Amino acid sequence: MSDDIPFDKILNLAPDQVDEPMPGVRRVMADNPGPFTFKGTISYIIGRGKVAIVDPGPDDPRHIGALLDAVRNETVTHIFVTHTHRDHSPAVPAIKAATGATVYAEGPHRAARPLHIGEHNPLDSSGDRDFRPDVALKDGEVVSGDGWSIEAVATPGHTANHMAYAFKDKNVLFVGDHVMAWSTSIVAPPDGAMSDYMASLNKLAKRNEAIYFPGHGPAITDASRFVHYYILHRMAREASILHRLSKGTTDIPTIVRAIYIGIDPRLTGAAGLSVLAHLEDLVTRGVVETDGPPAIDGIYRLG
Ligand SMILES: [Zn+2]
Repeated sequence: MSDDIPFDKILNLAPDQVDEPMPGVRRVMADNPGPFTFKGTISYIIGRGKVAIVDPGPDDPRHIGALLDAVRNETVTHIFVTHTHRDHSPAVPAIKAATGATVYAEGPHRAARPLHIGEHNPLDSSGDRDFRPDVALKDGEVVSGDGWSIEAVATPGHTANHMAYAFKDKNVLFVGDHVMAWSTSIVAPPDGAMSDYMASLNKLAKRNEAIYFPGHGPAITDASRFVHYYILHRMAREASILHRLSKGTTDIPTIVRAIYIGIDPRLTGAAGLSVLAHLEDLVTRGVVETDGPPAIDGIYRLG
């Protein structure tokens, strides 16, 4: 099913190198490649002279140095954070200390729902729990700097506090990990929630930004078409889960084996959590049943 999404895995950007994919937008990539980060986390620099940084990235002195080098002789007035995964926000204190910039984000890291009794959060180590913004942004708020304006676009789902940032008058959205050209986004409970994620995708589908700059991988240059494919992909995934359940009561590992053919073994755990995210949504909608709250080791049947 994922083959339906027109993925683009071509990124001509080396770690620490600065390029300018469009006038007024520069980017610097951290050297943290991996199955969830592609070639690395990308930090963006908006404007020239008095600038904003979107997602300072991981707490990696080399990346922090490269990012500060990229803005040498300029003033960083604003830092925007899309979400609080450890590959996006832990460099904030160092960049803030070096520049005095004000930090904007939706809020601290939090789960999309409380933990169930006895549930352990498999994502505990992925969240930057120390992060606090100076200014908590609400959906639709506009922040203006020198020659640029940014609109906060609440996009919960990948994390509860995920915020995208629209570069006003440029037709550009800094989209974090909500939509990426190289892969689907991870939606994993309890930090992520599929119903929120789908609502956020549908919200972006109604906006008109043409170019997305994601937290990982190349820019998306035909954004409305790409978001449409992303929505279709999740609907197909849900249909596959329901198809498997139509053959009988089963558990999440069985569903993963049935619908994720040829998956990278490092991603099996994430696939299980993604299926759980769909099942949570399906149980809430009354389409699927389970005993007690939907759990990673639960047994599921059609409602
Ligand atoms: Zn993330």
